Amino acid sequence: MDYKFLPITDVEVLELIKKEERRQADGLELIASENYTSPAVLEAMASVFQNKYSEGYAGRRYYAGNEIVDEIETLAIERAKKLFGANFINVQALSGSPANLAVYFALLNPGDKVLGLKLDHGGHLSHGHPINFTGKTYDFVQFGCNSETGRIEMDEVEKLAREHQPKMIVAGFSAYSRDFDWIRFREIADEVGAIAFADIAHVAGLIAGKQISGPVEAGFDVVTTTTHKTLRGPRGALIMSKDEEVAKKINRAVFPGIQGGPHEHIIAAIAVALGEALQPEFAEYSKQVIVNSKKLAGELISHGFKIVSDGTDNHLMVIDLQNKNVGGREFTEALDRAGISASASTIPNDPNPPMKPSGIRFGTPAITTRGMREAEMEKIAEWISRVTEDWEDSEKLAAIKKEVGELAAKFLVPGV
Ligand SMILES: *Cc1c(COP(=O)(O)O)cnc(C)c1O
Repeated sequence: MDYKFLPITDVEVLELIKKEERRQADGLELIASENYTSPAVLEAMASVFQNKYSEGYAGRRYYAGNEIVDEIETLAIERAKKLFGANFINVQALSGSPANLAVYFALLNPGDKVLGLKLDHGGHLSHGHPINFTGKTYDFVQFGCNSETGRIEMDEVEKLAREHQPKMIVAGFSAYSRDFDWIRFREIADEVGAIAFADIAHVAGLIAGKQISGPVEAGFDVVTTTTHKTLRGPRGALIMSKDEEVAKKINRAVFPGIQGGPHEHIIAAIAVALGEALQPEFAEYSKQVIVNSKKLAGELISHGFKIVSDGTDNHLMVIDLQNKNVGGREFTEALDRAGISASASTIPNDPNPPMKPSGIRFGTPAITTRGMREAEMEKIAEWISRVTEDWEDSEKLAAIKKEVGELAAKFLVPGV
């Protein structure tokens, strides 16, 4: 990006921005939750909507001067409806976790029983982890993956639902590489009279790109997503609901329940990102994300890596490193020194504590945005394999970093 004012007013900050631009351009981003937004999204984020206080909703604001804010927020909502087929959408939640908080706050009472996926099996902190607000406030029962197959077993979900009669079932994940059986989840929720809540933070872009099925069409009562992962927008969230009563409760929970003024510059950028996601190129993009992910997983398997569930249906994979001579954290650090960013991850029924996880998670959304395809996945798998062998050898890691940098230089990072 070209900066007009920072070179005059704040060189110290400008230098850090430039350094971060270099870091993002020189390395390979395999963190599954990250992506690069378009320069258009970045421009909207830097717009004067930032200056506006707009507590309330379109047509019902607590401050004057919101006529245009109403238009931009309505535009974001209309585009999101078109993209996901939802009836009601709230675009004000500040990020994924606050969006989930708003859903619980709107639809549950403290102490209510909820069924969700365990964190170390691929769930999210906000799905009832004991150290999270959600785990402290609601009575979560958690399901996991079968340790042999690495897959969620719907029969177990059904059994737990019958046994515990939860008021809500949360279906969603941060580190699960297989398709979710949304319809079965909703049927189980119906059977026990629970609210069906889906959190598609990770896969929203793949659903929007019509590459995998989604929970809205499966009839979920409420669906949240972040806007900054596969959906490739600014850091923010959407909350979608099926009926008006639920939507009203959600709106009241977001404001005045939890938040004050919404971030309208972010909402403007969400509108831009949703506009991009409605284009045919975005379907192509999300298709390639999955093609790349399957290719990377296949290559890693051929290098002797064990992948949880033996493959992937989406943009990510979790590697079980127990057959390699390195833990998740050491491996993540070694990869970083070789110019490759990833995140250490627990594996289902991890024998090691969460601070020393036995796995690592890779994802293809960011490298696919840069334009990388199958041939690059082959190279990347090879480097990853070399790092498992040389993770303690600084010189060899530096040599890999040089090769990584040469490849990275051929693929532009949008906005840099
Ligand atoms: C990333 C993620 C979130 C949280 O999003 P933040 O924007 O980091 O708060 C919530 N749920 C799931 C499933 C996620 O993967």
